Amino acid sequence: MSDEKDATRVVSAGRRPEWTQGIVNTPVWRASTILYDSVAELRERGAADTHHKLFYGRRGTPTQWSLADALTELEPGAEATLLYPSGVAAVASALLAVLSPGDELLLVDSAYDPTRNLAAGMLKRFGIATTFYDPMIGAGIADLCTDRTKAIFMESPGSLTFEVQDVPAIVAVAKARGITTLIDNTWATPLLLPVIGMGVDYSILACTKYVVGHSDVMLGSVTAAQGQYERLRAATYQLGQYASPDDAWLGSRGLRTMAVRLRQHGEAALKIAEWLQTRPEVARVLHPALPDCPGHEIFARDFKGASGLFSFVLDGGSETARAALIDGLKHFGIGFSWGGFESLALPVDPQRHRSATRWQAEGPVVRLQIGLEDPDDLIADLEAGLARFAGARG
Ligand SMILES: *Cc1c(COP(=O)(O)O)cnc(C)c1O
Repeated sequence: MSDEKDATRVVSAGRRPEWTQGIVNTPVWRASTILYDSVAELRERGAADTHHKLFYGRRGTPTQWSLADALTELEPGAEATLLYPSGVAAVASALLAVLSPGDELLLVDSAYDPTRNLAAGMLKRFGIATTFYDPMIGAGIADLCTDRTKAIFMESPGSLTFEVQDVPAIVAVAKARGITTLIDNTWATPLLLPVIGMGVDYSILACTKYVVGHSDVMLGSVTAAQGQYERLRAATYQLGQYASPDDAWLGSRGLRTMAVRLRQHGEAALKIAEWLQTRPEVARVLHPALPDCPGHEIFARDFKGASGLFSFVLDGGSETARAALIDGLKHFGIGFSWGGFESLALPVDPQRHRSATRWQAEGPVVRLQIGLEDPDDLIADLEAGLARFAGARG
């Protein structure tokens, strides 16, 4: 593992000469069939571990391995990474790799909604029970562990509401009991929170967001800690999970600029979050770098910085008043995915996606993805939006 700084590593990681063939970016190697020189060679290769060896298209080519290796290099202590056709596919494959019928899963209450749906849907159907837990639980998670608890799933900060979890405290409890830990690390990426080094077993990314960075590719990844790769590989192969070389290539292309993009997203988002805090129309800003965010001290202790996604709570007002704010924005699109170069505003209703805790707010909530536009233009846009909101609220 190199000790270079992150910005250097994202530029060089995964560019092995035998894969790039002297070209700067690993080219797109497309394949289904791989041809063998002889029956003997075919037999020999089929019997061995095919990781990083051409075997069959579904097992990947240097294009996918290059991105996967780069993501492994960004997580000191990791063994290997596999790619998936989406972030949700990565979450599902990782959970199916570590859970069996009769097992119990502890899932953070602020998890991404499709992760909750997987637990309530297919996992339940396969006899895996889920207990949701308070994102602020920390070492108190020990009280929820039973002898059937096999996995703890974290997401920090939480989707929509941005509570920061005490990952080291939860990992310590899990390690003492032989429980596997997984985290959805999409918000921070390994650049802002290298979780494998903190003892987490599986780090999951929706590469769709910051790795790709341009809102035009669906892609996911799971990075396994030392000793955790084999069961992930087995499940992934059995499920036939595969990311296309074209998408992996675009992922690698995005990765090269991820450090500078993240810095810009982070700085602009914090500036806008601090400005929103001063506004009378805004009751609360939910951003981990702000002192009143639940878990802010943990954020300050563990994270190297913030990325560009946060929410704010309006002071009163209806659904219609919130729509008046969002509908008229010039620089913010209305859409779900995030991590791209463009800003987005989304109406969100966290109270609909909670079961272990109760989410209460002073008014409707708006989630912002701050893109690479000049933050002053975004502030002017939001200022006009808040005026529309205040007018509609009456
Ligand atoms: C978007 C997202 C996902 C899912 O990624 P897709 O590529 O859209 O399937 C998972 N987790 C988080 C936190 C996300 O924001």
